[in-house]
Amino acid sequence: MAHVLAVDDDPDILELVALKLRSAGHTVTTAGSGERARDVLAAHPDIELAVVDHMLPGMTGVDLVRALRAEGSALRVLMLTARSQERDLVGGFSAGVDDYLTKPFSPRELAVRVRALLDRR
Ligand SMILES: [Mg+2]
Repeated sequence: MAHVLAVDDDPDILELVALKLRSAGHTVTTAGSGERARDVLAAHPDIELAVVDHMLPGMTGVDLVRALRAEGSALRVLMLTARSQERDLVGGFSAGVDDYLTKPFSPRELAVRVRALLDRR
């Protein structure tokens, strides 16, 4: 079990992610933007993994991951994306994304992928 951050500008997705991961036993903190996510991560150094929406207003999910990696963060990142084009996948992975899930996603698959990333630690 781990402390997980969920970042999405869609409150329904945020609630779905939080509900599923809490039911899997994780502690979940949510953020509605990349800027807010950075504040939450600074305040909670115990967060081990973030589920990050690709399309966020302002700083995008990829911008957020690139900024975290530039600071040396080893946070595990699972990105949620509605855009499955190869170009976006390559950009995300080169920015430091660990895994992808395409929307609409199965809550069960989300929980399994989070577990797999946490087991890599
Ligand atoms: Mg979005």
